[in-house]
Amino acid sequence: MRAAIISDIHSNLPALVAVLSDIETSGVTPDELWCLGDIVGYGATPDACAALTDNLADVCLAGNHDLVIRGDLDISHFTMAAGEAARWTAEHISDRTRAFLDRLKPVGQRREAGLYHASPRDPIWEYVLAIDQAEECLSAQQERVCLIGHSHVACYFQKNGRRTDGALAPPGTVLEMRDGKWLVNPGSVGQPRDGDPRASYLILDTDAWTASFHRVEYPIDLAARAIVDADLPRQLADRLYVGQ
Ligand code: ZN
Repeated sequence: MRAAIISDIHSNLPALVAVLSDIETSGVTPDELWCLGDIVGYGATPDACAALTDNLADVCLAGNHDLVIRGDLDISHFTMAAGEAARWTAEHISDRTRAFLDRLKPVGQRREAGLYHASPRDPIWEYVLAIDQAEECLSAQQERVCLIGHSHVACYFQKNGRRTDGALAPPGTVLEMRDGKWLVNPGSVGQPRDGDPRASYLILDTDAWTASFHRVEYPIDLAARAIVDADLPRQLADRLYVGQ
C-alpha cells in the first residue's frame, strides 16, 4: 500500500494544488492520502484547502492551528502574526470548513503507522528537531513507524538498537525503513521552513517500508498576493519566498 503524506498546508491553495497534481502525475499512484494537520492558519484560502483535503484525504489530523481556529486551544499560545492569522481565519471560514475542522483529532493511526501532528508524546505542540529529543520520542512511541508534522522541516530520525540518527531530507532522499524505529516528517505543503520554498510531501510504501521525499515548485506569487490582499501580516507572504 502506498500513501502520499502531506502536512501543514496552512491555507496555501496554490501549494496544495501543485502537490496534488505532482502526486497525480508522478506515476506512483498512491492508494491513499494522509494529512498530518494544520490545514488552515497563516494563508488566505482556508475554505478551498479544507474542501480539497476533506474530499481527498483518507485520514486527516488536527494541527495546533486548526485547534486554535476552531476554539479548542487558547490563541495566546501564538506569536503575533500567527494569532492575527488565526483570528482572521476564524472570522472568514465557512460553516462547512468549521464542521470539517471540528471532526479532526491530533492523533491517528493507519496501516501500523502512528500519526501525530507534532510528536508522539505531545501531539499538539512539540517541535521534534534535535536528536536527543527525537531519541526520547522514539523510545516512548508505541508504533515502530511514526509520522509527524508541525516543524515544517522535511527530516527523519531513526533508532536502531542503542543508536539514534537523524537528518534533514532534501528531495530525492529515500528511506529504507524495514528495521528499527522511525519518526518521519514529510515537511510542509504551504509554509516550508527548511530553506527550500518548494512545497513538500512524502510517499510511503507500507509493504516495502520505504519512503521518498518530494518537492514541488508552485506559484508563490499567487499565495503571497492572496495574503497581502486579505490584509494578513506581510511577513506571512514574504517568508514563503525564502522557505523560512
Ligand atoms: Zn504548521
